[in-house]
Amino acid sequence: MKTITEPAREVDVIHETDVLVVGSGPGGLSAALGAARAGVDVTLVERFGCLGGNITAVGVEGFAWYRHEKTVDTEGVGREFESRAREAGASTPEPQSDSDAIDAEGFKLVADNLVEEAGIRPMMHRAFAAPIMDGNEIKGIITESKAGREAILAKRVIDATGDADIAYRAGAETQKTPVEEMQAASVMFSMNGVDKRKFIEAVKADPHTYKDWESGEWTVETTGKEDKMFSPFLKKPFKQALEAGIIPAHLQTISGTWGAVYDSGDLTYLNLVHLPECDGTDPDSMTRNEIEGRRQAMLAVEALKRYQPGCEDAKLRNFGMTIGIRDTRKILAAYDMTGHDVREQGRFDDSVGIFPEFIDGYGILILPTTGRYFQLPYRTMLPNGVKNLLVAGRATGGDKVSHAATRNMMCCTVTGQGAGVAAAISVKQGIDLDAMDISLLQTELKRQGVRLH
Ligand SMILES: Cc1cc2nc3c(=O)[nH]c(=O)nc-3n(C[C@H](O)[C@H](O)[C@H](O)COP(=O)(O)OP(=O)(O)OC[C@H]3O[C@@H](n4cnc5c(N)ncnc54)[C@H](O)[C@@H]3O)c2cc1C
Repeated sequence: MKTITEPAREVDVIHETDVLVVGSGPGGLSAALGAARAGVDVTLVERFGCLGGNITAVGVEGFAWYRHEKTVDTEGVGREFESRAREAGASTPEPQSDSDAIDAEGFKLVADNLVEEAGIRPMMHRAFAAPIMDGNEIKGIITESKAGREAILAKRVIDATGDADIAYRAGAETQKTPVEEMQAASVMFSMNGVDKRKFIEAVKADPHTYKDWESGEWTVETTGKEDKMFSPFLKKPFKQALEAGIIPAHLQTISGTWGAVYDSGDLTYLNLVHLPECDGTDPDSMTRNEIEGRRQAMLAVEALKRYQPGCEDAKLRNFGMTIGIRDTRKILAAYDMTGHDVREQGRFDDSVGIFPEFIDGYGILILPTTGRYFQLPYRTMLPNGVKNLLVAGRATGGDKVSHAATRNMMCCTVTGQGAGVAAAISVKQGIDLDAMDISLLQTELKRQGVRLH
């Protein structure tokens, strides 16, 4: 490949902080709040103009759609996201669970308020461009923005980019799922103008279960109980549209779930478009799939208008502001979680919180209706090869099946809050992240309302 040499240059240090969190999704937002509440100076860098990550930027509103009567759930800052959204009128009852769907737009304000109240310095519209390294120690980051290149120095850095961007560039060990095995990406969208009463009547008249997630294209492993449980799944309109030639015959993958329907006629979190082999670390792949995803979403809209009662007069309300990426790089950590850990109630001395036995991905769907849960170890956030760095959210260390659990947003809040508190303790006590005092960490997490065991 042809190359050019970029000239070396002086970069202004525009800010210095104790804990720098990069990425403001469920992982990063929780990390920033955990660190700030533990009493250090915190800065939160985000490439987009809103905080919240997939919740707000993609429109992933099903924050706890797995929750049922007997679920033993995470307690900590993730639960606060739900209660704050409810208080702000930014959520509505979710159709398949004992939880609320979070309103993607309303959560932008909730996140702004949470950050402001905690005294966190938000720095939006800045993308991470390069790590600032001293040997194998990270000392900050260089950002790229309308202001050009700028440096931010930090005592500890938390990579919450979802893609382990910082860990990867800093030289930590990472792995990426082969593109043909990656979980599909999705262009998410919402509609308005839906007749809620007619829509719900039609759903009730022809209820679907999680068994319907299976199609000619993919199979789903369950424990059996899921096959009989209600799922807000839409399949028939697309089958009819295929038969009528409105959806081309090769597009058998359009079908999926809706998230919430409002009295105002909004039908949101439409998870109907699945784009295989989209590499979320390759902008060309993302460009192709954004365009293809929007095209497929419009076919889905047309099918719903024609064949889904209640949608006759509906129209597209909005696409998520970016394609939804489920699966890219993960770090190789001091401890990589396993499928066994999430299926068999893993227990760890260095637990930073719990998450119910909810596994959704790579062809497995297990819902936590039994009270079973696993713990998340601190070491799953500690990357091999780089000091002063923790990784929170969906890029923590683990195998594929463990990621089908840990990628879920509430679980990302657990590693987020754990990473934030650990980074704060590390700064305050002057101890290295790889020599963390687990007792101090757990004491502060408990003080912040986290359930550890
Ligand atoms: C279509 C779709 C549907 C899903 N459905 C569900 C669901 O129903 N329930 C559920 O629990 N989970 C669901 N997930 C998974 C879940 O949304 C993610 O795994 C979770 O949001 C990951 O959280 P995170 O904080 O690690 O990363 P993200 O939410 O991806 O946040 C990462 C943040 O980092 C920012 N960022 C990234 N790179 C940079 C950079 N270089 N510089 C600066 N900022 C950067 C991003 O803009 C973003 O704000 C879904 C995912 C997708 C894509």
